[in-house]
Amino acid sequence: MRLLLDLHENSLDFLRESIESYLIADEYGTHLHYKSLPRNKVKWKIAYICLVSSFEIMFKKIIQDISPALIKVDIDSQNKNNRTIDFQKSIIRIKNFSSIDLSNNESEYLSRAAHRRNQFIHYTVEFSSEEIKNNYSVLFSLYKNIYEIYFGSDLYLEGIEPHVITEISSFAREYEIFRGQEIRKEDIEAYKAEIEKAQNYTRVIDKDNQVYGRIKFGSENDHVFDIDIAYDMSNSELYSWEYCDDCGAKNGEYHLFDCDLEICPVCGWQLITCKCDMQYLSTDNKIYEE
Ligand SMILES: [Zn+2]
Ligand SMILES: [Zn+2]
Repeated sequence: MRLLLDLHENSLDFLRESIESYLIADEYGTHLHYKSLPRNKVKWKIAYICLVSSFEIMFKKIIQDISPALIKVDIDSQNKNNRTIDFQKSIIRIKNFSSIDLSNNESEYLSRAAHRRNQFIHYTVEFSSEEIKNNYSVLFSLYKNIYEIYFGSDLYLEGIEPHVITEISSFAREYEIFRGQEIRKEDIEAYKAEIEKAQNYTRVIDKDNQVYGRIKFGSENDHVFDIDIAYDMSNSELYSWEYCDDCGAKNGEYHLFDCDLEICPVCGWQLITCKCDMQYLSTDNKIYEE
């Protein structure tokens, strides 16, 4: 089977490949979830490489439309072995010759992306999935903008749901990664206040008015021996993480209210569902009300 992809199709093909890897890498969020293996998270690398390649080829297409000679390193040479320009060079040609209005910030961002892609391909690889998701989103939305302006149509990829394209391109604008959680930017302050408030509720009170100390995130496994009917939940590696996987409490802090992972200090079961029927009690003896 012979396959022929022109630059436009080739760019979109890389982009589709990129998004497919993105969706695997992003499953369960940016941080490493116990259900998601590092081999899923490492797909960020391929997602990123393919996105940069897709960008590079789109730029070549735009430059070629101006003049095919412009995608050559040496525009005057008739030599058949005259190489085509790399991504860094194409950013400069786009700025100098095309109608695409790239800001200095954008071209520097693209230049760093090209550098990072080369690092991924040629050297050892080190990145955090939180950081790369943000970078990916910025780069993707820039691609989408330029694509839609230049080609005059919405970015559409066969086999990819349109809402996926919208979500990826708006992620960096709308969300911030705070304590391993993806939080809408406008909700960050309220979330911080909620964390602070939860730290004042150091105890729980049961239906017979017995009061117990809450178990802080990270110390669950120390308490399991004090608890009569220890539930398996406490014996989990989730409790050794830097931040609680459900509420984002830092190791050593109290969980936020109604966190799925807080255990009951009496029965060791999930606090929000156990039969002890606990309520949070503050240092000044107030019962927590939602
Ligand atoms: Zn929690
Ligand atoms: Zn209980």
